[in-house]
Amino acid sequence: MKKNILILASLLSFSLVFAQTEKEKVEETVNKSTIEGHIYFLADDLLKGRETGTDENKIAASYLANTLRSYGVKPNPMTGDYYQKINMKDIKPPRRVNLSWGGKENKTEIKNKVVLEPAKMTFTGEAVYLGFGTEEDFKGKNLRKKIVILQGGDNKNQDVRSAFRMRQEKSDRAKAAGALAVIELIKADAPTWGFVKSRFDRSRVDIADGEVTNKGRAGAMGYLWVQDEYGAYVNDFKTGTQQVKLKMEGASEKPLYSSNVVGVVEGTDPQLKNEYIIYSAHYDHVGIGKADKTGDKIYNGARDNAVGVTTVLSMAQNLAKYPTKRSALFILFTAEEKGLLGSKYYVDNPVLPLEQMVYCFNSDNGGYNDTSIATIVGLNRTTASGNIISAAKQFGLQATDDPAPEQGLFDRSDNVNFAAKGIPAPTFSLGFTAFDEELTKYYHQPGDHADSLDYDYLEKFFRAYVMAGRNIANDPETPFWVAGDKYETAGKKLYRK
Ligand SMILES: [Zn+2]
Repeated sequence: MKKNILILASLLSFSLVFAQTEKEKVEETVNKSTIEGHIYFLADDLLKGRETGTDENKIAASYLANTLRSYGVKPNPMTGDYYQKINMKDIKPPRRVNLSWGGKENKTEIKNKVVLEPAKMTFTGEAVYLGFGTEEDFKGKNLRKKIVILQGGDNKNQDVRSAFRMRQEKSDRAKAAGALAVIELIKADAPTWGFVKSRFDRSRVDIADGEVTNKGRAGAMGYLWVQDEYGAYVNDFKTGTQQVKLKMEGASEKPLYSSNVVGVVEGTDPQLKNEYIIYSAHYDHVGIGKADKTGDKIYNGARDNAVGVTTVLSMAQNLAKYPTKRSALFILFTAEEKGLLGSKYYVDNPVLPLEQMVYCFNSDNGGYNDTSIATIVGLNRTTASGNIISAAKQFGLQATDDPAPEQGLFDRSDNVNFAAKGIPAPTFSLGFTAFDEELTKYYHQPGDHADSLDYDYLEKFFRAYVMAGRNIANDPETPFWVAGDKYETAGKKLYRK
């Protein structure tokens, strides 16, 4: 008995003397060789740029899942494995679309149009104009085998972004009423329209809303956008019924799947463990494309976003060994490059209740031009900024906020899907002071290789991220949006504040 006490006492003093500081815990698990291992693998030519849906994209997911497994991170609680499978569709736009309206004398050929939802059809008949297409507008309407004309957006907002956001519910209403197709008139100037065209006039990937079959989409409802910058077409329909001719053919879609990778580490505090910090990054990239001057056509995506993935893996390895008071949810998204689809799917299908997610610490990267800083897009928009600034400082880096807020970077990565739900969600990125040539040289270029990175800098960068995560996850104060932020209202609603 006495001997046991002695052993216990010596063990205690041993652990007291050698109790590790937070900084030592970070330095112990985050080191250059581990980081290099992840980045060189993910950015290897053999992974062919990890494009969503490809075999190589799935190999990348397997690497991430099994790395989490090797750390002792727990799997997705919904499935018992480390995946969240997403059914998607690969959409090829119609080869031919002819659209016109008006009688013989005043026939208008519509050139500036894009197809959002293709369908195979030949239609001639009167179109039904339903304003902005609100629930009220559709009420009691039988639109079987008819074409519906709508205005984009609602009576408050008619910009492209709003129109796009409201499109799904309008589409659902039109489908329910049996419509053949919706033609939506969009207020957009030439540059905005150019952007819309480049996004939709090519094959693209989207989340599948039902069964995906390739029959040229016969029987499906079509959805078209027509540019109507000054509202001239709206007038055509407001002032009288119109004969419309629409022919679409040659469209197709085929099923495709990919997965988010998900893991959990439970917190140590009996109360705070009910709150989760999300550590996230997208692992997909843009695949194989146009060759550069050297003939290289594999877009390796070392910076974008093998680096981001490595921040999450570094965090996972550290927390599996040294858990924090709050719990951790790791999510590695697919299909970011296809339009933030993996994160969108996640927030609509969360594996744990969203209101328990108190922070989303995302990482996405284009490149860097300053190795003395870490750039956190949205740093000063949440009350956790102090925890991030002090963490960076401990590893010799200065944490700086978005150098170009006018570019809207905050709203262009996966973090925005969480922010929109109300979860404070900045993006931790390699240090950049401007989107200059040093970044564009690599950003979405075949030259974004693993061997062009500064790993001394990266070691500090990853350590700063892990330290910041630990600070936030151990802080007695739960992080939130700073007062007046554009997402504060959503946050109050989510957390019932
Ligand atoms: Zn990215």
